[in-house]
Amino acid sequence: MSVSFVVGNWKMNTTADAFIPFVQQLQQTGCISEALSAHVNVVICPPFTTLHAASPLPEGIYLGAQDCHEQPSGAFTGNISAGMLAALGCSYTIVGHSERRQYQHETNQVIGLKAMAALGAGIIPIICIGETLQERTGNKTLEVLENQIDGILSTLNVAMLPQCILAYEPVWAIGTGLSATAEQAEVVHAFIAQKISTSTDSTIPILYGGSVTNTNAAELFAQPNISGALVGGASLKVDVFSQIIIAATKK
Ligand code: PEP
Repeated sequence: MSVSFVVGNWKMNTTADAFIPFVQQLQQTGCISEALSAHVNVVICPPFTTLHAASPLPEGIYLGAQDCHEQPSGAFTGNISAGMLAALGCSYTIVGHSERRQYQHETNQVIGLKAMAALGAGIIPIICIGETLQERTGNKTLEVLENQIDGILSTLNVAMLPQCILAYEPVWAIGTGLSATAEQAEVVHAFIAQKISTSTDSTIPILYGGSVTNTNAAELFAQPNISGALVGGASLKVDVFSQIIIAATKK
């Protein structure tokens, strides 16, 4: 059975004291033991300032970060390296989230370097790609995604791609309540899967992100090329996040 993923991106929300109670409540719903038996990896990506407080991490929950710097160390005030994340117990890190592309002006080339840095520290990068509303309405979605992947591969060694996770996150669906339909998402996931298998001769997990909730998760997970979800707002609510995890166990 293939492993699927439910990844929670807490963005710039919560303080360190919230982590362990959240995880305990999640466990109490029973979704973590179901995830373990169904080979669903549950990853929580809290703010950097919470990572130190995430132990003991129960079996079945992995720790992730929301970004890393592309260099291992040096004069980069305010940044965090992948090695620092590994030392705090992170197994995953998001790179290239659209909010970082927008507000920190991150390019595909920098995102590829960040993914390389993560892999070098033993961390699996969750690499985000996705089109804007203007690009979608202009029928440019697949072209934009292809350019993003090619741009990332200009600095990320293609031989390393099978060790990565991709997240398709249409920018217009993030935090808006306007999820892509399962059919819209599947068209894009199938395109990405085809492109990855042509370049690497292998398959990698491709997660969908953008207003995933307990009401649309099952339909999204039923699609053959959707390997899980990157969940923002709904990952902060135990009851909703646990139902998304349960939906993934039925895949
Ligand atoms: C995200 O932050 O990656 C995300 C998909 O957010 P939301 O689920 O809130 O749309």
